[in-house]
This record gives sequence, structure tokens and C-alpha cells, in this order.
Amino acid sequence: MKILGSRRGITQSFENHQYEAEDYAGEHLSDVKIFGTAKVISIVDKYKSHEHTINYNDFLKNVNKWRDGNYYNCISITGNKVRYHHNELGGNEVWLETFFDNEKKHFRITHLDAVLVKIGDIIDSNTIIGKQGNTGLVLSNKPVTDITYGSHIHFEVRDENYNFINPRSYAVGDLIVNYIPQSNEINNNQKQIKIIADIINIREKYTVNSNNIGNVYKGEIYTVLDEINDNKYTWYKINTNRNSIGFVASLKNGRWIEVLDNDRHIDIVDDNYNSIKNKKIENIFECKKDGLYAIRLKKGESIYIS
Ligand SMILES: [Zn+2]
Repeated sequence: MKILGSRRGITQSFENHQYEAEDYAGEHLSDVKIFGTAKVISIVDKYKSHEHTINYNDFLKNVNKWRDGNYYNCISITGNKVRYHHNELGGNEVWLETFFDNEKKHFRITHLDAVLVKIGDIIDSNTIIGKQGNTGLVLSNKPVTDITYGSHIHFEVRDENYNFINPRSYAVGDLIVNYIPQSNEINNNQKQIKIIADIINIREKYTVNSNNIGNVYKGEIYTVLDEINDNKYTWYKINTNRNSIGFVASLKNGRWIEVLDNDRHIDIVDDNYNSIKNKKIENIFECKKDGLYAIRLKKGESIYIS
């Protein structure tokens, strides 16, 4: 099981885990890593091992009593009151995005004691994603006084539409996962946008009800192929470099997307020594140490630069 380290063994197979995940035993607080590269797209990191651990059987017994809309008001194995959102019963978790043969996959790793990565991080085999723990809903034969009660790794693999896939082939063998970074670079000749929200869905068409065909992430830069405005959003048509062309929305007056000003402007002094601020310059020289210079030549003059 190279993806999770050789010290882990399967405790619950995909079939036994209601075709959603596999569980792996391992040492409590041991490092959790993957084998390959991926991008961190979501994390939960607010629960404490043991203190916030919920016994699965207690949960089943009290599920109706504990339920409060989308939340559960649980009593942990140490008697603490812990409020869990129904999506966060895995406790502290990390969602990763990666690619196998150009197909997007999502990994979910839950019950972590601590999360040691941030959203947007590109991680590799050397990155410690987190420490194995027992946050969230777990089951164990150990006494509840044992600090390692129910400590394990829950590992899900999802396709790009978040359907469950058997994680076995991703957790064993020599598969190397590769995140393909978005590769658009700043291009001064094209209108470009920079994503400043953590994550924005890519839509097939320029409506919010249109199919979600992927995501763009903070810091990525895209060339604008077309721009459509409606009452609420500006839609940018982009090529995502993942074989998809789609639309990303920027809420008007919101801070989701920044339109890059690729024209270069500098302050100059004219012939009469008047300073002119922020003038658009076409022929400029960039000096790594001092920034930008504009050099204007009179007719017939030439310069040599070395
Ligand atoms: Zn599990």
C-alpha cells in the first residue's frame, strides 16, 4: 500500500464499507502521505482526537435524538458535547484532486488528528498531509479510555462527478498519481484573468444551472476567450487546459476574479521635465535590479545595449 505507507493494513474493504471507501489500520499519530502528486482542494481541521471521537454504535443508538437539521449534537466517548455537520462526520479531513491518465480523481482522507496542508497546496510523496487520528465517527474494540481508540485512515476515491470508486488500486501497487497544474501563463498580448477566490466552478454554459465541468483554483491564470455579462455576473469563457472549455462566473462587485492589466505603465519625464504618471509604454526595457525604463530616441539616434 504505497499510497498510504507500508505500515498500514486493510481493516474494512470496499465491499464491507458499503462501496464507499476502505479503512486502514496504522499507528495513531503516524504520518499520512500519498505516493505521487495532488492538489489540496478542501480541508476540515477543527476536531480533537479522543476528546471529539464519536462511537459509531452510540451514534446509531442516538441518531434521532442527536439530529438537528444538518447537524448532530453528539456526546463523545469522553463525555464532551460535539456538534458535527452531517458532511463532517469524518472529523478532520483532506480532499485532494489528482489525475490518472488525464482523468480527474478526488481522494478523501478522514479521521485525521491534525491536518498539515492548506487549500491550494500542491503536495507530493514527501508531504505529510496529516497525522492519523480518531476524529469523527469511529468504531473500536479498545476501551474508550485508550487514546488510540478507533484510530484509522478512511480513504475514498471519487471520479470527477464524485461517484465512488474502489480505492484498492490507488492504495496498492506502483501507481503514481500526477496532478497536472493549470499551465496558462501571463501573456501580455491577451486579456487574462486571475482567480482570487479559493475555488470557482467551471460551467458548461454561462448560467449557474449549467453542468459543473470542473473547478478553477486560487492563483490560477486563464486567457479570456469571450466575456458575457448578465445582471449578476460577468462570465469568462476559458480553456482550462484539462481538455475542457467552459465558463467561470465573477460576481459583480465581488472579489472572485481579477482581470489582469497586462499593459505596462510607468512614470516618465517628458522633454520639458514634466513628470507624467502611469503612461502606457510600448518599447520598454526591464532591468532586474531597478525595474522598468523607457528610452526615447530622437530621429536618427541609436543605442547599443549590452
Ligand atoms: Zn471508513
